[in-house]
Amino acid sequence: MAFKLTYATMSNPPQEMHDKFDLALENVKQQLGQEYPMIINGEKRFAEEKHRAYSPINTNLHLATFQKGTAKDADDAVAAAKAAFPHWSSMNWEERVYLMRKFADRISTRIYEISAAVSLEVGKNRMEALGDVAETEDLIRWAADMMEQNSGFRKPLGSDPLIGMSSSNESVLKPYGVWVVIVPFNFPASLAGGPVGNALVAGNTVVVKPASDSSWASTLLMECAQEAGIPAGVLNLLTGSGSTLGNALTANQDVSGLTFTGSLEVGMDIYRQFANRKYPHPVILELGGKNATIVSKNADLDLAAEGVMRSAFGLQGQKCSATSRVFVEKPVYDAFVNKLVANTNAIKIGDPTQRENWFGPVINRKVYQDYAGYVAELAASGRILTGGTHITDGELANGYFCAPTVVADVPLEHRLWKEEMFLPIVMVSPVDDLNQAMELANDVDYGLTAGFVGDQVEAEWFFDHIEAGTVYSNRPQGTTTGAWPGFQSFGGWKGSGSAGKNGGGYYYLPLYMREQSRTRVKQA
Ligand code: NDP
Repeated sequence: MAFKLTYATMSNPPQEMHDKFDLALENVKQQLGQEYPMIINGEKRFAEEKHRAYSPINTNLHLATFQKGTAKDADDAVAAAKAAFPHWSSMNWEERVYLMRKFADRISTRIYEISAAVSLEVGKNRMEALGDVAETEDLIRWAADMMEQNSGFRKPLGSDPLIGMSSSNESVLKPYGVWVVIVPFNFPASLAGGPVGNALVAGNTVVVKPASDSSWASTLLMECAQEAGIPAGVLNLLTGSGSTLGNALTANQDVSGLTFTGSLEVGMDIYRQFANRKYPHPVILELGGKNATIVSKNADLDLAAEGVMRSAFGLQGQKCSATSRVFVEKPVYDAFVNKLVANTNAIKIGDPTQRENWFGPVINRKVYQDYAGYVAELAASGRILTGGTHITDGELANGYFCAPTVVADVPLEHRLWKEEMFLPIVMVSPVDDLNQAMELANDVDYGLTAGFVGDQVEAEWFFDHIEAGTVYSNRPQGTTTGAWPGFQSFGGWKGSGSAGKNGGGYYYLPLYMREQSRTRVKQA
C-alpha cells in the first residue's frame, strides 16, 4: 500500500520524504531574506511599515520580511473580495470544485518547499511541518468532495399536499459574501487552507490574515492559489498586526462571515465586536484547549506513556489539542509517571529541521519567558519531575528552547489546572477512580480533545461522558492529538469552539452557506 502521510503515520516515513525535504530545505535556505507583499485584488500591495521575521530555532536567521498592513489595506481587501463575489458565487459549483482541486494540486507540487518554510518559521519538526501542509491539501480536497457528494447542496424537499396544484420544493445552500479568515501561528498552513478552502468552495470570497509569527506559509499558499487560476479578488492576503487588521475587519460592514482560530481570549473579543453590527452574521470560532488524558488501572501503561508523551510535547506543547492534564487511577499512578518521565527524558531536542530531532523551540520570546514564569509558579506548589529549564547548550542558545516538563503534586484547585499554558508542560495527578477523573476532566471552560487509555468497556463509558468535540481511546500515536481530515473530524465544545460541527467532517462545509427554500407552485 502506498504511504499516506497523516499525523498518526508520520513516525516512520519512507526515506524519499526525508531526501526531498532535505533538498527543499537547502533551496529555501538559499533564498532567505526576501520581502513578500500582501495580495489585494490579485495585485502586490506594500506597506510603509515592515515586519522582519526571524526563526525561533535561531533568531539570527532572518527568514523573510512581511508588510504591516493598515486599516486602509484591510478595507481595500474587503472591497476587492466584495467586487469579486458576484462572479465567483454565480459560477457553477463544479467549476469552483475544479479550481479548488487545482489549488490543492499546486500545494501538493510545492509541499516540500512550503514545509521547509513552516519548519523554519514555526520551529516544527520536519514531519510535523509536512503534516501541516499535507493536511492543508486534504482539507481543501475534503471540502471539494463534500460539495460534490452533496451535488452542490441543492436538494429536493417533499411536495405539499395541495389540491388542484403541484408544489415542487427545493432546498438550496448559497454563500454569504465576503468571508474573513484569521489564522493562529501554530498551524499556519492547514488553519489557513482549511477555512479558506471551505469558504471558497461554498462560493464566498475571502480575506485571510495569518499570525504575525508565521505569515510565510499563508503567503506561499496564496501563490499556489494564484498559480491555480483562482481569479483576482477571490482570495486576498493581509499581513500585519492582529489588533490593527482585526479591528478594521470586524468593523467593516461588508464582511458577511468570519472564521477565527486562536485563543479563547482574542476569540471572545472578536465574537463581541462582530456582534456590533446591524444584524447577526455567522462567526466560526475555533479556540484553545485544556485537554485531559485519563489513564485507567486497566491501561496498557507503555501505550499510555507513549501516547501522553507524544501529545503533551509534540510541537513543543503548542497544539490546541495538546494533552496538558493527565488523571491516573491510583494503583498505576507511580508506574505510569515513571514511564512518562523516562519517555520525556529520551526526547531528541534540537534544530527541528534536522531528521534526528523531534522537539524544537517555542514560537517567540514572550512565550519563552512565560514558560519560566509558569515553571516557577508550579514548582512553588508542586514538584517538577523533569524539565523546567530553558535549554541554552551550544547553538540552542540562539533559539527559544524550553525543556519538556512533567509536573506532579500540584493541588487540584490550582489555577493552572484550568488555564491553557500552550507550552511543553504537562501536569499529572492520581485519582481515586474513573468518576473522579471524569469530573476533573470536564471541570474546565474548554472542551476540545480528550484521551482515554483503558479497556474497551471503559472506553465506551468515557465517550459517553466526556465533554469534548474530538476524543480518542487507546491511541499510542497521541492520546489527544493528530486528527486528520476524513479520519477524525476536528472541533471543540464549550470555550474551545462555537460551531458545534467539526472541520474535516461531514457537517462543516454548510457552515459557510445559508439556506434558501424554494417553492414553485403550478396549477395541476
Ligand atoms: P492568538 O489568539 O494570539 O492569535 C490568533 C490570530 O488572531 C493571529 O492571527 C493574531 O494576529 C490575531 N489577532 C490577535 N489579536 C487580534 C484582534 N484583536 N482581532 C483580530 N485578530 C487578532 O493565538 P495564537 O496565534 O497564539 O495561537 C494559539 C492559540 O490558538 C491557542 O489558544 C490554541 O489553543 C488556539 N488554537 C486553536 C485551534 C483549534 O482548532 N481550536 C487550533 C490551533 C490553535 P497576530 O499574530 O498578528 O497577533
